[in-house]
Amino acid sequence: MQPVVLVTGGAGYIGSHTCKALHGAGYAPVSYDDLERGHVSAVQWGPLQVGSLQDQATLRRAFETYRPIAVLHFAALAYVGESMQEPGRYYTNNVGGTLALLEAMRDHGVDQFVFSSTCATFGVPAAGRIGDDDDQHPINPYGSSKLMVERILRDYETVHGLRSVVLRYFNAAGADPDVDIGERHEPETHLLPLVLAAAAGHLEHVEVFGDDYPTPDGTCVRDYVHVSDLADAHVRALEHLRAGGASLACNLGTGVGASVLEVIDQVERTTGRSVARCVRARREGDPPELVAAVERARRDLGWNPSRSDLATIVEDAWRWYRSG
Ligand code: UDP
Repeated sequence: MQPVVLVTGGAGYIGSHTCKALHGAGYAPVSYDDLERGHVSAVQWGPLQVGSLQDQATLRRAFETYRPIAVLHFAALAYVGESMQEPGRYYTNNVGGTLALLEAMRDHGVDQFVFSSTCATFGVPAAGRIGDDDDQHPINPYGSSKLMVERILRDYETVHGLRSVVLRYFNAAGADPDVDIGERHEPETHLLPLVLAAAAGHLEHVEVFGDDYPTPDGTCVRDYVHVSDLADAHVRALEHLRAGGASLACNLGTGVGASVLEVIDQVERTTGRSVARCVRARREGDPPELVAAVERARRDLGWNPSRSDLATIVEDAWRWYRSG
């Protein structure tokens, strides 16, 4: 029998790509999702249990019905801007929801956990690439909520023996190369899908949030990493835990940054269409530059992203965009 893995947020962007990767690696993913932001159509590689993390009865029923060996926890609110407006909602959902999940795991004897964290836990880093062990001083409630869970996990390990792999994503982008699934947020706030919408003529222009940052072209620099490479890192994290590996926290990026204008230029090259842009004020909560120094994921998980160059990311995302 295939080992069952509970995937919270399995109907979401990174969760659904990970379900596909898990299925390909011989696991049986069970998605647990409240469908507030996820899509039923993204759940293609195993059953879906609809429920929220705060709904104890449904959550516990999922553990009893499916008897997972591990939990991969994606379910969370994940918009920096929104978190600045509604911090309480972010802490309730991201911290409170995770605590409910960890308690349900304890009650059912599940002690292997892979957690979706974020580069937003680092805040405004000192110059240069962000190392796995760099100081974390988040500047928005989204990043704070994820860092709180990182700390909670350390205590759960000390006291309850729960082992975890914390994966701090930099900027997830792109889509499944087979075009089975892709990025679909409502409302869409992420840069690449918005630039593609402008290239397709569905948006008049792209808003560039600030061009006076201390970066080479004045726009924010981010480390874009292909969602399928992120999915692969989750399978590796799970296998690391199953093999008895120690808990670890690592950055998932490429080490190469791209500015907002470079992303727009790449979209113009890939699509052969021009994209109008309008410079706007800086978006609150945005650090100028977030680029990973990727060491631990390579060394301890053997992770080596294969589709994360910007051209491939944009190509895959564009193919998905046009299929919709
Ligand atoms: N961004 C932008 N215009 C947009 C959306 C995003 O200039 O319409 C910028 C944003 O300020 C950030 C980068 O693009 O510097 C990536 O933002 P996104 O929301 O995609 O991801 P985040 O970095 O918030 O996870």
